[in-house]
Amino acid sequence: MPLQATGANGLAFQAPLYNLLLDISHRPAVTYKITKGSVSSTVVFSDGLKTEILRNAGQVAYTDEQTAQALSYMPWGVRKHVRHIDFRSTYPGGGNTAAEAPYGKDGTIFVYPPGFNLSVGRLGGMLSHESGHSLLNETFSGGQEPWISYEKAAREEAVAPSQYAKEGRGQFFEDFAETTELYIDIVGTPSEKAYRALMPRRFAFMDMVKPDRSIEVDPCAGK
Ligand SMILES: [Zn+2]
Repeated sequence: MPLQATGANGLAFQAPLYNLLLDISHRPAVTYKITKGSVSSTVVFSDGLKTEILRNAGQVAYTDEQTAQALSYMPWGVRKHVRHIDFRSTYPGGGNTAAEAPYGKDGTIFVYPPGFNLSVGRLGGMLSHESGHSLLNETFSGGQEPWISYEKAAREEAVAPSQYAKEGRGQFFEDFAETTELYIDIVGTPSEKAYRALMPRRFAFMDMVKPDRSIEVDPCAGK
């Protein structure tokens, strides 16, 4: 069921899913080369970033090619915080967690079985959400600026990027991850203006963080 809410300015806001899980395959992609190893592979992107793909006990949820493709849709500013993708056959905490990006794990996104059957575009969306956590883990400290201003913006805006983000109110980490995914999906599309109008302060914050710098920093752009 799509979530519907009405923003302060009267615009209807519709999030496509409970947890966004957006398909980001419409975004411009960078090219890449994959070097395969027995337990891990390394993807080198044309903008100079690298991501290692790790396979726990031979887990093959997605091929290296599919994983690299999903990552290739993500802008430089967030992909730089995704240095390792670790496919795991079980989630140690139980439940239906599809992926996580824990603090202090050197930019690792763990992907668990509930996250195994997505299209490549949606895998990119899920990784974008997790990259928001990595970005937060590596850039901001809780209780300090600029995180305080994000919390304030999120608390005061009438809408949230998704129901999942809303449920974390009081704790804005999921809100930030969902906003990151939404921002990556929406910027540069015809919907951007409407979403900006609904969440001007969140979007202004994301502009400041600049997760969407792929074009300005890609040294191979246009070649
Ligand atoms: Zn999350």
